[in-house]
Amino acid sequence: MTTVVLTTEVLEQLSAHVEAAYPEEGAGFLFGDLDGEQRIVRAILSLPNAREAEARHNRFLITPQDYVQAEQRAVQAGLEVLGVFHSHPDSPNIPSEFDRQWALPYFIYFITTVEQGKSKNHRVWILHPDRSGFDEITLQVVPSSPSPLRSTPLGQTASSIE
Ligand SMILES: [Zn+2]
Repeated sequence: MTTVVLTTEVLEQLSAHVEAAYPEEGAGFLFGDLDGEQRIVRAILSLPNAREAEARHNRFLITPQDYVQAEQRAVQAGLEVLGVFHSHPDSPNIPSEFDRQWALPYFIYFITTVEQGKSKNHRVWILHPDRSGFDEITLQVVPSSPSPLRSTPLGQTASSIE
């Protein structure tokens, strides 16, 4: 079963971005590693909050150029583009019909409810293979570690592999 793992540090960065975007939706990419069924988020790439007026309200817009740039940035960092995050201001973090139409297979969709400007709840979704809807994925938040999480197998501390 697919699970998503991220550190409190990454979660704080993500929350800060979507809170700054409030009352509009904030969005960006999730970078990290694939480890079997686990998706380990190691960094985010926030998209600028000032988007075209028609895209700013009630839906997020990620352009083909955004995908190309994200792919390049991920490669530079030695990471994979795992998916996308965005916020649902003052509404449940359940994918909308718009989200479903624009979803890519294998991408994870991390959705945060921002209530009155504060991040309240995070849920992660993946598109069902027949595109009929989304399946929820287990989200695991782990404490930030002083050494980079990178190259540290999960479940082991950095010192135990050195
Ligand atoms: Zn949405």
